[in-house]
Amino acid sequence: MGALLEVTDLKKYFKVPQGALHAVDGVSFSLGEGKTLGIVGESGCGKSTLGRVLVHLLESTGGMVRFEGRDITRLDKKELKHSRRNMQMIFQDPYSSINPRMTVSEIIAEPLDIYQACANREERNRKVAALMDTVGLAQRVADSYPHELDGGRRQRIGIARALALSPKFIVCDEPVSALDMSIQAQILNLLQDLQKEMNLTYLFITHDLSVVKHISNDIGVMYLGNMVENAGSKELFAHHYHPYTKALLSAIPRPKLHQKQERILLKGEITSPINPKPGCRFAPRCAYAKERCHCEQPQLEEVSCGHQVACHYVREINSL
Ligand code: SF4
Ligand code: MG
Repeated sequence: MGALLEVTDLKKYFKVPQGALHAVDGVSFSLGEGKTLGIVGESGCGKSTLGRVLVHLLESTGGMVRFEGRDITRLDKKELKHSRRNMQMIFQDPYSSINPRMTVSEIIAEPLDIYQACANREERNRKVAALMDTVGLAQRVADSYPHELDGGRRQRIGIARALALSPKFIVCDEPVSALDMSIQAQILNLLQDLQKEMNLTYLFITHDLSVVKHISNDIGVMYLGNMVENAGSKELFAHHYHPYTKALLSAIPRPKLHQKQERILLKGEITSPINPKPGCRFAPRCAYAKERCHCEQPQLEEVSCGHQVACHYVREINSL
């Protein structure tokens, strides 16, 4: 069976006074139904933009996205509306994506209303009550306003709203980053349970690798609009070959002393994503950079089964 989502050479550039900001610059991956791809990288690497392009919140500049085998990059208005139903987004700060003047039940019902998904008011109310149950929100908060609830419950509203139209694919953009540790675990568990029950497919965006470790099947590491490494989650934690991934993983605290690893601190200037020069975007910060790195951009290549790295000298650096 083919992948639910196939992304090929996807690009999103933004016009800025100085030229073009290359937020997403040639990203490719495929994602199977019911699976989770974690996307990690520091802020500004284009991961949120990637998510927004995938769910049609932004139009792509180039490349192709296939969903269930169909190209969804250029759709007319009607097809776009249909496609949007299947693809939803959960945001980092649920409060910013929620209208504070609406009650919990109104917020959850809004997508149902927009799509006229219910035959009558009773059906709509039943659906909203069922969605609240699904995400673990007590019915007594139905008439509350989001500001009256804590961050965890506000994120549950965001999840219920994202589920209202029974999507197949959900982009989770830093959904637990604004929450306390204990609440983070609850929301992550909820997302995992929902995935199993509804066979949901997730793109899970985060700057925190430890968050995606257990919930992702695969992990893609992004650096300045490029995907620099992509592998199964377990594989990536065991073997990380790209110099940037090595630095990123060295920053994770290790629970056991014998796993002590020196933190790799990155020096050097971050390349500007505006009119970027040719070559590897990581070169100014890379300890292994050679002349070739400054003029030729490395492409993702398979170094072992299902493990791809974009680095000219990956074999040398890792003695592969
Ligand atoms: Fe470093 Fe060159 Fe590899 Fe880029 S291509 S990560 S600069 S060694
Ligand atoms: Mg972001």
